[in-house]
Amino acid sequence: MEKRPLFIGSEIYRGSTYGDWHPLRVPRVATVMDLSRALGWLPAQVYVPSPRAKPAALAVWHDADYLDALVAAEAAQSVTDAVREKFGLGTPSNPVFSEMYRRPATAAGGSLLAGELLAKGGVVYHPAGGTHHGMPARANGFCYLNDPVLAVLSLRRHGVQRIAYLDIDAHHPDGVEHAFGDDPECLMISVHEVDRWPRTGVVEGDTTRQTYNLPVPAGLNDSEMALIRKEVIVPLISDFAPDAVVIQCGSDAIEEDPQSRLALSNNAHRAIVQALMPISPRLLVLGGGGYNPWSVGRCWTGIWGVLNGYDAPEVLPEPAQKVLRALRFEGNSRGRNPPDHWFTTLHDAPRSGPVRQEITGAINAVLGETRRR
Ligand SMILES: [Zn+2]
Repeated sequence: MEKRPLFIGSEIYRGSTYGDWHPLRVPRVATVMDLSRALGWLPAQVYVPSPRAKPAALAVWHDADYLDALVAAEAAQSVTDAVREKFGLGTPSNPVFSEMYRRPATAAGGSLLAGELLAKGGVVYHPAGGTHHGMPARANGFCYLNDPVLAVLSLRRHGVQRIAYLDIDAHHPDGVEHAFGDDPECLMISVHEVDRWPRTGVVEGDTTRQTYNLPVPAGLNDSEMALIRKEVIVPLISDFAPDAVVIQCGSDAIEEDPQSRLALSNNAHRAIVQALMPISPRLLVLGGGGYNPWSVGRCWTGIWGVLNGYDAPEVLPEPAQKVLRALRFEGNSRGRNPPDHWFTTLHDAPRSGPVRQEITGAINAVLGETRRR
């Protein structure tokens, strides 16, 4: 019997906030769980509660003294200047908050578990994962740990060697590239906004390192992303013939997101996941960025639908609309008068447009070496 896709989630994300003014004050994973259940898409047999990873398990990549400092900061709910300086804890982007260890350790535990669940093949969805900026001994860019790195290491530990990592978050995955950028058994592809923090990931197509970075200009539309999907993402991953595909599906490249200037609809995300499903015997889909509570909830629920072959109804049933109507986006103008389709639909209207020369130029630059061979 074909194995059904599994959903790794946790109640720890519900009500957890990085603070009143932090972009991660909004609910995300809880919305996906509630919406999926309201649609009848998340029966108990496919829901896997995420375990919380212990520091010893995280030490396969993170430094022990950093992990000690993170645990201690949660317990004390404060950090010294020395800890802030050395580990990046207690900063505006990585603040002290009540679950500052337990929440990322739960997301990391989910990614470690995903590697185990996928040993024999299958599909796992872990929307709380995707914290791609975490460094071995430093909190970075809202990330305290790096669960995508831990997922890849867990897959390897369970005998899965060749891994393709695709990242479509608006930001470059500097932490993941730090881990696997020079690993030819790990294909890395990132599409991210040019000149945006962390400003790594300049245009690159390195067939030796198997690292491909495709920075894109503000305003990236669905037509441009479709071309990138067809010309870069699908062929590179197919040719690599991976044992597993890991997709970081940050939704901050969607037009309504406050943290980027890209202009995709959520159809772009679903089309990419759909296109990669048949390529490898194992698929792990992670979340990532996404800071508009409606955009991220609708996008990531739609992805769970794609993984299961569910069609979203044109107009959401009342219980699903209720989940979306209950969301608030305090402190952001987008929260003042949310348009009705944020409550009544899962899928955005397509945002197609002209394919700009910067896009074809970047595609050619990334594929240059590959095409010449
Ligand atoms: Zn991001």
